[in-house]
Amino acid sequence: MLKKVLIANRGEIALRVLRACRELGIATVAVHSEADKDSLHVKLADESVCIGPAPSPQSYLNIPALISAAEVTGADGIHPGYGFLAENDRFAEQVERSGFTFIGPRPETIRLMGDKVSAKHAMIEAGVPCVPGSDGALPEDDKEILKIADKVGFPVIIKASGGGGGRGMRVVEKKEDLLKSVEMTRTEAGAAFGNPMVYMERYLQKPRHVEIQVLADEHGNAIYLGERDCSMQRRHQKVIEEAPAPGITQAEREKIGEACVAACKRIGYRGAGTFEFLYEDGEFFFIEMNTRVQVEHPVTELVTGIDIVQEQLRIAAGLPLQYTQKDVQIKGHAFECRINAEDPYTFIPSPGLIESCHLPGGFGVRIDSHIYQGYRIPPNYDSLIGKVCVLGKTREQAIAKMLVALDELAITGIKTNTALHRDLFMDAGFQKGGVSIHYLEQWMAEHKGKKS
Ligand code: ADP
Repeated sequence: MLKKVLIANRGEIALRVLRACRELGIATVAVHSEADKDSLHVKLADESVCIGPAPSPQSYLNIPALISAAEVTGADGIHPGYGFLAENDRFAEQVERSGFTFIGPRPETIRLMGDKVSAKHAMIEAGVPCVPGSDGALPEDDKEILKIADKVGFPVIIKASGGGGGRGMRVVEKKEDLLKSVEMTRTEAGAAFGNPMVYMERYLQKPRHVEIQVLADEHGNAIYLGERDCSMQRRHQKVIEEAPAPGITQAEREKIGEACVAACKRIGYRGAGTFEFLYEDGEFFFIEMNTRVQVEHPVTELVTGIDIVQEQLRIAAGLPLQYTQKDVQIKGHAFECRINAEDPYTFIPSPGLIESCHLPGGFGVRIDSHIYQGYRIPPNYDSLIGKVCVLGKTREQAIAKMLVALDELAITGIKTNTALHRDLFMDAGFQKGGVSIHYLEQWMAEHKGKKS
């Protein structure tokens, strides 16, 4: 096993990794920016190192500062969490070159899956169903682009190969707009991601976002832990997640799960990962893979009883998976609400001092949060301050549990989006289940100005 792990992240995920390490008897090193010195993971870690000023390029994205923090503290492993450097192949490479264990996939796997054109290509070869579209990057020739679009069928979506975080995408409804849109997406992609390569997909009208969690070890074993439905999105950002996905049959789960496992084996995947799909009319279409732990991993942990972060640590230490596919049983229904420090209706961030804070609890309630009374949320980072998760026997019971938990959640001093979550859990359409990725934005347009 690893002996000491440096956690190259902040907030709730740093705390999540810290707890997993402690339970396995691994010592922990917290790193933090000057703005995060009072953060809970810093207080709870065995050691901590200040790696720079508040702006993330000078701290959480500062590779030399992170490597030297690992060197001076004698850590043997580095966990990247999510966001920041978690999917940066150069970081993974430098961690390993400096003699530390990177708790994640091999750098070349991160590189392969980080570029969406090469990722899609690898998935097609592995037999994973993808959204119909261009065969690789779009060519320069205008006539060829028009030909491809005719074959794919309008509307189409032009996507940057290096894109991420919901950026670098443009929907094109009609032929007349195509070439201009391709040009604009290329220019933007070049400026934003340093890679002007774009590709084309059919634009699906009312898909759901359904993703498959996988675990793979160094010994050629791979399993899937079922799926999550993350269709409740605003600006392509997930707001509520659940497991299992409403209406997905065991046969569908097995078919897509086995395809993901086969793909893991084919690309030599190592660690925890997520295959993201759009799901429409009973069909799955791969869109991208995340080569790290996801924000929404707790819902899978709740319905499977498998600690994904501990498995990441075990896999990184070279141990074989503790579970076979037969051991993975989905029991009950879980939800996650992302609690953000923001206005629930305008979404304007609301950093500042937490004057009081009461977190919910009870049977089947799980809180992952780094906040506490007297903690000041810095304005420099994203607004996620915690996650409220519940596990119920049925989806209906889980909804009832979430409503009770949200009622108990009381934070003063800053604004949070708790009221929006409460409204959504009381919404008949959401309660029915299986809504598309456009549901939340349509709901917000209809409920403009209304408050619970
Ligand atoms: P990113 O890496 O920026 O998150 P993704 O490829 O995962 O980009 O797509 C993000 C979101 O954009 C999806 O969850 C979906 O809402 C929308 N999207 C992407 N591709 C398509 C498509 N072909 N048809 C319809 N919506 C799409």
